[in-house]
Amino acid sequence: MPGYCQVKRKVPGQQQPQLVCRFDFPMECRADAGIGHDSKRRVRFEAQRNDPLLNMYNPAMILGWTANIDIKPVLSTDAARNYIAKYASKAEQQAPAFPQLLSGIVNQMEETGSAKTACQKLLNKMLGERTYSAQETAHLLLGIPLVRASTSFQTLHLGAEGGMRELQVNEDDGSEDPDERQVTGDSYTKRGPGLEALSLHDVFKNYTWVKTEWRKKRTSTNTVLRVFPRLSPDPTGDQYKAYCRTKVLLHHPFRLPESLRVVDEQVQTWAQIWANCRAAGHDHPKDTLRCWENENRTRQEEEDDDENVPNPNAPANEEDWQVFAQAFPNAALPQFGIDDLGMRPLD
Ligand SMILES: [Zn+2]
Ligand SMILES: [Zn+2]
Repeated sequence: MPGYCQVKRKVPGQQQPQLVCRFDFPMECRADAGIGHDSKRRVRFEAQRNDPLLNMYNPAMILGWTANIDIKPVLSTDAARNYIAKYASKAEQQAPAFPQLLSGIVNQMEETGSAKTACQKLLNKMLGERTYSAQETAHLLLGIPLVRASTSFQTLHLGAEGGMRELQVNEDDGSEDPDERQVTGDSYTKRGPGLEALSLHDVFKNYTWVKTEWRKKRTSTNTVLRVFPRLSPDPTGDQYKAYCRTKVLLHHPFRLPESLRVVDEQVQTWAQIWANCRAAGHDHPKDTLRCWENENRTRQEEEDDDENVPNPNAPANEEDWQVFAQAFPNAALPQFGIDDLGMRPLD
């Protein structure tokens, strides 16, 4: 039976990509639990198995839960983080997709309607039709903040024309109006002599511009410096020059940007300077710019480990107590404890 889990994938020994289950079912039966590899050569725990299609489960858990489970040991902190982040950031399902929203609007519009009106209506609709999750609703009603961050964010725009401006100040001392704390590129190039040896990255990460001078942030403040535009690091792409310039400007202290390009009284290209930097093995702090090595690495297919797609046509299941009440009218509902797992009528 084809399922939502089916993906097309290259399989050894086959020319054409084959339709396979992305959760690697059916699986080989095995008499003992052990360690094996999944179809992507990732290590996995393989439990004892006497059925090629059964999900992995824990007997005590499934008896208590009495519903489908899929159990896997957590093999790395990254796996746990990715799993949590994936579900925490998952979009709500009920809201219609934007194309559907838009086609609904366009269908209701008069023939004389313009694209502009359609877009305006779409925006209005998006405001009205956002779906709130249960957690979000509870947080809003109880006045609990939706987000708490141990990190603050600082945004820096390094324009190709040489302009530098800070887009947004995100500081915990909210007493001052951010508009009054405009930081311009000048604020870096005119930094005090004490900060001479600090790069743009260091200054924006560790200092805060207060009125006319940079003040050191509390050491406990962790700031992520976000740099825009997000240039492509592809060495063959047409943004590469600008990318190299951003890299160099970000990590090498300067008063005049162009001075960084002068090596032995010769003006070199930004790409050359960036190549020099790497060849010299400078130890620059990690930044948030795109990274060609990372982007070039073979990406793992976006895969969901455990995607529950509810079937809207499934008949509503009766609750256990309803089934019990039909079978034994007027009898008291039995109560089961942990020790009874496996011995209850429903087991
Ligand atoms: Zn499958
Ligand atoms: Zn360098």
